Amino acid sequence: MTMAKVSTELLAILRCPYCVSGPTRQPGDDPGRLVLHKDCWLICQTCPRKYPIKEGIPIMLIDEGDKWTTTAVESMPVPPPSN
Ligand SMILES: [Zn+2]
Repeated sequence: MTMAKVSTELLAILRCPYCVSGPTRQPGDDPGRLVLHKDCWLICQTCPRKYPIKEGIPIMLIDEGDKWTTTAVESMPVPPPSN
């Protein structure tokens, strides 16, 4: 298994799906910006959702982000659980 790093180009365009689409779209010019945490989590700066990066692939699913809303950033498992 190789751990491909998420490119800065990809990070620049990725946004939290909860914050940018549909009825849950958040106000502002650019909601849902993400910050990379320990190369394996993307943390939304607008809402409490956090998205795991598994084998180099960001899992940008709202259901996945929902699982981590109450977990503090410093308590996020590294690497993310596989299931
Ligand atoms: Zn968000």
